[in-house]
Amino acid sequence: MAEVFRADIDGMHCASCVKRVEDALVRLPGVTAARANLAAGSVEADFVAPADKDALLKALEDAGYPVSEEVPSDAPVNRQAEEADRLRRDTIVAAALVLPVFLLEMGGHLIPAVHHLVGQTIGHQTSRVLQFLLIGAALAGPGRQFFFKGIPSLMRRAPDMNALVALGTGASFLYSTVATFAPALLPVGARGVYFEAAGVIVALILLGRTLEARAKGRTGAAIRALVGLRPSVAMVVSAGGLEERPIAALKVGDVIQVRPGERIATDGVVTEGSAFVDESMITGEPVPVEKAEGDPVTGGTVNGAAALTIRATAIGEATVLSGIIRMVRDAQGAKLPIQSLVDRVTAWFVPAVLAVAALTVLVWLAVGPAPALGLALVAGVSVLIIACPCAMGLATPTSIMVGTGRAADLGILFRKGEALQKLSEIKTVAFDKTGTLTEGRPEVTDVLPVEGRNEAEVLSAAAAVEVFSEHPIARAILRRVLDAPKAEGFQTAPGSGAEAVLDGVKVRVGTGAFVAVAEREIGIAALEEQVERLRAEGRTVVFVSVGDTLAGAVAVADPVKPRARAAVGALHEMGVSVAMVTGDAAPTARAIARDLGIDHVVPEALPDEKVAAIEAFKTSGPVAFVGDGINDAPALAAADTGLAIGTGTDVAIETADVVLMSGDPEGVARALALSRATIRNIRQNLGWAFGYNVLLIPVAAGIFYPFFELLLSPMLAAGAMALSSVAVVTNALRLRRWGAPTKGSPPEPELQEVPA
Ligand code: ADP
Ligand code: MG
Repeated sequence: MAEVFRADIDGMHCASCVKRVEDALVRLPGVTAARANLAAGSVEADFVAPADKDALLKALEDAGYPVSEEVPSDAPVNRQAEEADRLRRDTIVAAALVLPVFLLEMGGHLIPAVHHLVGQTIGHQTSRVLQFLLIGAALAGPGRQFFFKGIPSLMRRAPDMNALVALGTGASFLYSTVATFAPALLPVGARGVYFEAAGVIVALILLGRTLEARAKGRTGAAIRALVGLRPSVAMVVSAGGLEERPIAALKVGDVIQVRPGERIATDGVVTEGSAFVDESMITGEPVPVEKAEGDPVTGGTVNGAAALTIRATAIGEATVLSGIIRMVRDAQGAKLPIQSLVDRVTAWFVPAVLAVAALTVLVWLAVGPAPALGLALVAGVSVLIIACPCAMGLATPTSIMVGTGRAADLGILFRKGEALQKLSEIKTVAFDKTGTLTEGRPEVTDVLPVEGRNEAEVLSAAAAVEVFSEHPIARAILRRVLDAPKAEGFQTAPGSGAEAVLDGVKVRVGTGAFVAVAEREIGIAALEEQVERLRAEGRTVVFVSVGDTLAGAVAVADPVKPRARAAVGALHEMGVSVAMVTGDAAPTARAIARDLGIDHVVPEALPDEKVAAIEAFKTSGPVAFVGDGINDAPALAAADTGLAIGTGTDVAIETADVVLMSGDPEGVARALALSRATIRNIRQNLGWAFGYNVLLIPVAAGIFYPFFELLLSPMLAAGAMALSSVAVVTNALRLRRWGAPTKGSPPEPELQEVPA
């Protein structure tokens, strides 16, 4: 059994770190996979013996990314807030130290009077010594993190962005120190000091990281909100009366009192009382659901105006809420195919930047105008600073975090992060009919006995079989029969029907092909006309055979979900074609498809034929399949993206890539739109991050200098670099407010009414 190791780690600041952390772990024997998440500052690894936790911890430590905290799978992520606080303090200290230097030096450059004033009062040499002291303190204090992390990474020949900052600021500082105390070592005209550049770079990059950490903290808001849904105590009914118990001390089977308006402590079933429960936090469905004795309730949902007594059926990690939190966390840490490209680029990016910076310095020294040394330094440092691939590293993971978090708010759970990208590329959405487009709560509308039989006989024979079946049709029939006769030898044929032996005679209920009476003339001709008429109205008709003869047929109506037509419309609007794949008869399927505006219908499909239908749709692009997850597993797995429509308890659905917590088929359109919005957001981020580096590196290197005497100052480079990562994170945060493009169409009148 592979174990999973999860931890928050320190020191991951750039995209190249991600690959390094993962490599450090995967190199260990026994580690089968490792996933690092830059946005969350966390890592996950799957391992088997001989690897163990200590080995993993040590490997991370050796690689320069010590573990700050081992986290359980559903723990809240609050480190970002602490990190933002620490960075904020560092930024303030750095700014306080750097500001006087900045005023002295820049003021002197801009306003000649200031220059004179400095010359007359403290003297230029004193001013330089003062700057040396202040900036020295800034680098040794708040700025030392760049050196402590950057220099070892250089030593390991795996330079990261700290190395770039350390080199950039270190070079400016050392050069200026030489110019201050031993100017004779430098050529005349190149004895300027650049203390303020070193200081401002440190201050600005710290400021950028502060803003980034704050914004990143907000990307984890969705998980924190989910964790916050868990109450801390429950009122347990015990021998000695009511007793308040912490959630951690609950046991399965405990009887819990839920007061009106209270959050339900854990998953359970109602044993007493009835109330409307607000499940919107789990399903995204705003309308409260009525819960009465025997109904399941989900921990974290809010009780309405009446009291409920429940018996706990699951606690702790086994609850639906914990499952959701785990799922969101996993999805947020996922790598999209897009990301592997970014990782490959950034792995060689920093070394390449070092090479470009070195080249810049050499070219300036060789052909630059005097004072070449000073200009070479400025250009080289600017290249180092501007090229930090920070924004690039944040581009994908922050969007994924915010996008999947927003999805969770809306009751859309991405079980696999990759589904986010795949779903956005879908060309065809194929729906299962029963329970997906329809309510899945059919009612018997007509009973058609053949000559010589009566309605009660047909229903009772059918009920004898259906007592064993889970199918919605079975439940419809059983609601009409009080005492089903006892049958035995039950067998089910998924997608076709079911059979059992009653009084020594085989009874079958199901499709015409299944009961195999279609070709026989045992009264079928008499039924045929009525069956066709009912099917044309969208009813589902099943046949009942007793022994070798047809006994009759039962028609059920399964109302279409109120938002089903809106869902189809919304998908069309997104340029996606919509199909329905069902085991039901062709006329019924066509009638419903016509009503909903569905483009393609594949009726009378057995489970494996559903798979074939999906493969066929794939010829015109990626296909999503939406099913209620019970008998649609093969189709869900065969589709490029499988979406399971299910309420809370269906979270366990293993084959789906996406789980729609509410039964609303519009969730499909919403999931698709959100995935597209997230991918678009990632593209914007990547475009911005790459574009920024590609455009500004040459400017920093000084290619405009020969023409316009334009050189990017290291300080501007630091500002631009800090802004670029903040811009990326801020852009990703826009997804938090993402709203589905709401179409004004109200729920259409139901064409298929359920008769009372
Ligand atoms: P869908 O593909 O619409 O979800 P199913 O695959 O569950 O439908 O079933 C397809 C058809 O098989 C039903 O329309 C019905 O005719 C028949 N069928 C399957 N199971 C049963 C059952 N237990 N009782 C009666 N009919 C059944
Ligand atoms: Mg179904």
